Amino acid sequence: MGAASGQRQDTALHTAVLTEPAGDSKAAEVQEKPLRPARSRVAIIVDDFGNGMRGTDEMFTLPVKITAAVMPFLSTTEKDARRAHEHGYDVLVHLPMEPRQGKPEWLGPGAVLTRMTDAEVRERVEAALDNVPYAVGINNHMGSKVTGDERVMGIVLAVCKERGLFFVDSHTNYRSVAGRMARELGLPPVENHIFLDDVHSAGHVMKQMRLVEQRAKSQRYCVTIGHVGIQGKETAAGIRSGIAAMKDSVDFVGISELVKEEWKWNTQLTLP
Ligand SMILES: [Zn+2]
Repeated sequence: MGAASGQRQDTALHTAVLTEPAGDSKAAEVQEKPLRPARSRVAIIVDDFGNGMRGTDEMFTLPVKITAAVMPFLSTTEKDARRAHEHGYDVLVHLPMEPRQGKPEWLGPGAVLTRMTDAEVRERVEAALDNVPYAVGINNHMGSKVTGDERVMGIVLAVCKERGLFFVDSHTNYRSVAGRMARELGLPPVENHIFLDDVHSAGHVMKQMRLVEQRAKSQRYCVTIGHVGIQGKETAAGIRSGIAAMKDSVDFVGISELVKEEWKWNTQLTLP
């Protein structure tokens, strides 16, 4: 491909906006697509699906697209992942990862631990991905210890890369290495910005949703996480109210759409 000259406007088609339309239909068509959507985007991820948790049905009746993070190897893992996919939601594997504090039994089956060998970590990540249908990526359940561990995160991210997936850092550790390492591997450094239900009431979730709106407007997008579980219905109610209040000012998107648009990510497998 030669360098574009001033007279060859068609070579600038990939920029999607032509300042001087060439007058043919092709150029006119391209002109209708802006480079970026005008509105800020919000990706709501709901964690802890897979165990028949309270609030599951309420999350499936929200009026916008969300992302369902489904834990592997549990009673409703496959059912919830299929339901999410059929509903048009994105699916993530909600991978249990060792925290710095907390009881191991909170982790659930198939957890990734820092004392495991490289081969064991890889085996766990691959098994979890094989157990949750339709997953477009992984995010961490707990994991404050693992997301600070370069060796283990390197393996998790390598498996993501091989499978054309991305990793969403839930951000349970403010010293996480996940974002930097993802960037180094050419993966999108996507992370959670705001937990919606760190305090469990619909009112608090609604308040957090206002922070999400502000953040989305100041940086074009915001990733936020809520949970199904003991207070899942209250979280769903707070999300629903927040959506009603924000729907005229932001667009709600699945995490894969955000990742494609913000980081020009396309899912290409690197395996031969
Ligand atoms: Zn979780």
